[in-house]
Amino acid sequence: VTAVLLRGSGLAAEIRAKVLAASADLNRHGVDATLAVVVATDDESSHWYVRSIAAAAKKTGTACRIVDLGAVATEDQIGRQLDELSNDPSVHGIILQTPLPDGVSAAKLVGRVAPRKDVDGANPVSLGRLAVGESAFPPATARSVIELLDHHQIPLNGRHVAVVGRSNVVGKPLLHLLLQRDATVTICHSRSNPLAQYTRPADIIAVAVGRAGLLTADHVTTGAVVIDVGTNVMADNSLVGDADAASVASVASALSPVPGGVGSVTTALLLLHTVEAAADAHALAPA
Ligand code: NAP
Repeated sequence: VTAVLLRGSGLAAEIRAKVLAASADLNRHGVDATLAVVVATDDESSHWYVRSIAAAAKKTGTACRIVDLGAVATEDQIGRQLDELSNDPSVHGIILQTPLPDGVSAAKLVGRVAPRKDVDGANPVSLGRLAVGESAFPPATARSVIELLDHHQIPLNGRHVAVVGRSNVVGKPLLHLLLQRDATVTICHSRSNPLAQYTRPADIIAVAVGRAGLLTADHVTTGAVVIDVGTNVMADNSLVGDADAASVASVASALSPVPGGVGSVTTALLLLHTVEAAADAHALAPA
């Protein structure tokens, strides 16, 4: 078997077109959909990511307000900024970018992002709502896994999905999104040993660990679908996922590439969540 590549670019373009139409509609109602990104780091890859969000926002007619507090910002300063943006009616979506300065706890701060503006599902309230089936924005990365599968017409109902990784931003929200779609889910983590014992029975594997080459053909049953969420920057500056692509592609029926898979959809979904939040805030029809 040589796997089909599940690319995200077509889907990302479709989502951006939807966002563009929704932003234009909001503009007609006098609303500028606005995403605020709070940054407090010198980390170059983080700034690169923020610039890519700003560029995507520009293309979709949404406003992106970058609030750079500098790498020496305190927890108190960042917290007050999040409160201010949460209370600012001209801001519809808020993201707190990581990493944060040493000693500053992201886990505490994300609780200060108003849930209705929590377009990347970072506030524990959003994860809780997701868990009990109430309306909330899921983290864009977790949602992009589902959207990518739907876009490529890979059914979830009744399928067995193994999720490798149990973080609050990917693994745990993905569990709830998959349960909502009537999949049977196995969650694996660093103590799931041997990993292959848990991933081999799965029809679909979503891997979100951050370790290049973790998933090989040994972990994948013939014909399974693999969604690779991992992003790993190699010594030569190339970007690779968590799957050993050549090995996995020799047994899987389909594999999402890195780059060009999940990642390209994530930014588009952040902007979609922002126009949805704006429509909701102004009681307009959803995007
Ligand atoms: P994280 O918080 O570090 O979580 C990693 C998870 O992987 C943990 O649950 C950990 O288990 C598990 N793990 C570590 N080693 C393992 C092993 N040998 N076998 C099985 N599981 C293992 O990372 P994250 O924030 O979820 O991100 C995961 C990856 O996704 C990273 O590469 C990140 O860059 C990428 N990512 C991509 C996007 C995108 O849009 N493309 C967005 C967000 C993240 P324990 O819980 O036991 O420690």
